[in-house]
Amino acid sequence: MAIKNAIAVMTSGGDSPGMNAAARAVVRTALFEGVKVFGIHNGYKGMLNDEIEELTARSVSDLIQRGGTFLGTARCKEFKTVEGRRKGLDNLEKHGIEGLVIIGGDGSLTGGSMLSKEGGIPIVGLPGTIDNDVWGTDYTIGCDTAANTAVDAINKLRDTASAHRRIMVVEVMGHTSGWLALVAGIASGAEFVIVPEVKYDLDDICRQIVESYQGGRRYSIIVVAEGACSGVGLKNVVQEKTGIDTRVSILGHIQRGGSPSVEDRMKASMLGERAALAIISGASDVVFGFDEGKVVSINLFDSVYNKKTLDPELVRLSSVLV
Ligand code: ADP
Repeated sequence: MAIKNAIAVMTSGGDSPGMNAAARAVVRTALFEGVKVFGIHNGYKGMLNDEIEELTARSVSDLIQRGGTFLGTARCKEFKTVEGRRKGLDNLEKHGIEGLVIIGGDGSLTGGSMLSKEGGIPIVGLPGTIDNDVWGTDYTIGCDTAANTAVDAINKLRDTASAHRRIMVVEVMGHTSGWLALVAGIASGAEFVIVPEVKYDLDDICRQIVESYQGGRRYSIIVVAEGACSGVGLKNVVQEKTGIDTRVSILGHIQRGGSPSVEDRMKASMLGERAALAIISGASDVVFGFDEGKVVSINLFDSVYNKKTLDPELVRLSSVLV
């Protein structure tokens, strides 16, 4: 059934650059269509605590260039219980909210699927995570900015590694997914990329590094996804096996922040508009994402029940180029 009165938008789980651009597009599209928009602050926690306020076009001014999320985000254990979700649904009803756009990762979208199943409220999801690990879409909001941030850091680490003839282990975020590490590794020209999805032979990697140093190489960069192994542990083993001075750099939360790239701003804006139009026209249980450059809709339940795998083409390319 088409929505006549009000929708809400929220960001949830780990923040990612471009969430603001997506929320802004949802708000401005809904207002353009004559539908009120509420912002739910601090994810599901805010939904349960009734941190819900009506937004205007001005509420989302001066935001498209900002990282983080103006709505705030949080993790909420209570929402994982039926009683918690009931409390959230009651608050939505109190404000006359007839549909909800959720911008977040796998966990947040799973929570949304439960709200839909238990409360019957229309839910549209947008994948927002730097990990790019949501099934059914080859893009998630923030992944491009995070990859650029990681590549920029690796460029800098390469300079200092080369000056000292060091091996540099760079630990990249990504939760259980190796996408960010793989893309950052390929785009920065790292010698080795270690990701959870692909088997690796550390003895062989160390042997190749020693040989390359004997051939005159000045440095070596190993990018490791946090889900594969700890950067510190890896550094210790590599140093011991190669006998070469090895350092570790854990990129950490800088990968989450920063002004979103043009790609993230554009794609987040396109997804935000589609999400608002879909929910207003009565759609539910869909996630909007990208497939080969085009916006696509994915069934929400398919998206949360399936696990995304790494693109084998990227894995192959990485093995050829590094
Ligand atoms: P992300 O959305 O970035 O993957 P999380 O996995 O931490 O982040 O999920 C964010 C929030 O979504 C959680 O704090 C919780 O409130 C809700 N959530 C996550 N998984 C579930 C689940 N299986 N059932 C219900 N709610 C969930």
